Amino acid sequence: MVKDIVRHAPKITTLADGTDAVLHMTDLVGEESGPMVGISASVHGNENCGSQAIVDLFHLLKDMRIKGTIRLVPVVNARAMTVNARFNPIDRLDLNRQFPGDPGGTFSQQLAATFAEEFLGRIDMHIDLHSGTDRPTVDYVYLLNDEGFSRAFGSKVLYRPDEGKQGTKFSGTTKDVTMPRGVPAAVIELGGGIVDQGPYIERIIAGVLNMLRHKGVIEGDEAARPDQIVVNEIAGIRPRTGGWIEPLSPALGEPVAGGSPLFRVVSPYTFEVLEEVACPFAEGIMIMGHLTRNLVEAGDYGWMVGNLEGATA
Ligand SMILES: [Zn+2]
Repeated sequence: MVKDIVRHAPKITTLADGTDAVLHMTDLVGEESGPMVGISASVHGNENCGSQAIVDLFHLLKDMRIKGTIRLVPVVNARAMTVNARFNPIDRLDLNRQFPGDPGGTFSQQLAATFAEEFLGRIDMHIDLHSGTDRPTVDYVYLLNDEGFSRAFGSKVLYRPDEGKQGTKFSGTTKDVTMPRGVPAAVIELGGGIVDQGPYIERIIAGVLNMLRHKGVIEGDEAARPDQIVVNEIAGIRPRTGGWIEPLSPALGEPVAGGSPLFRVVSPYTFEVLEEVACPFAEGIMIMGHLTRNLVEAGDYGWMVGNLEGATA
């Protein structure tokens, strides 16, 4: 049992409809002293697997012995989650490009500033839960400033960004606040797509609990995953045309050979194949893809493939 459960709802601002925009936070305060662990989700409003997992994690963790405090922000970008959108509907900005935020800026910049002040600037380690939106499904973890912490989540494919190579490298993200403070930052990408999210949510719960064991926040032995692969280059491949995108690739986490097909786009109107796209690396590994035939617009999120050349254990 935790010693205390404390709710906070710091105000971001007052909106035009007269309601207050707040940031909902719940602290699980352990009997023993220790670090403040921050777990947050839905900084992108159409990636809600982590928000669902935090509901279940709350009920599990409140009955556990905790060293320190676990601060939960289950939904960072509530307005965006409500309309199932990546961008906040008030200013149409990507919240995860606005950090450290600006209290005098647009709504997303104000939200970023409040989240930085109340959460990112106070925690001692951060688990930042993302997923693959409501259509593509994703499965990898960033290795940033604490590899053991990130590895403990238990995903097979890990990504160590390399300045000289292509990949998912962005500025203005949550790590722009945590990493200068020396706070271990783990960015998790898991789930999404028009498939049952249950197995992904179970993996998020198990992964977060293993990370907490790794840091000694909860009791028990950490489980290690022996087949992890670290890539330092990721190709992001978007369909150039709109239509039905049809998957042709292996399952996420599986190798994919150079030149073998990833997907094709078929016209819903004339039934012709508009394009077929192949794996760009001689030896790749699947990181993101659509798992079902989905309607895409030209240039939508499509596939991500890691480069196995230069990959390590
Ligand atoms: Zn995201």
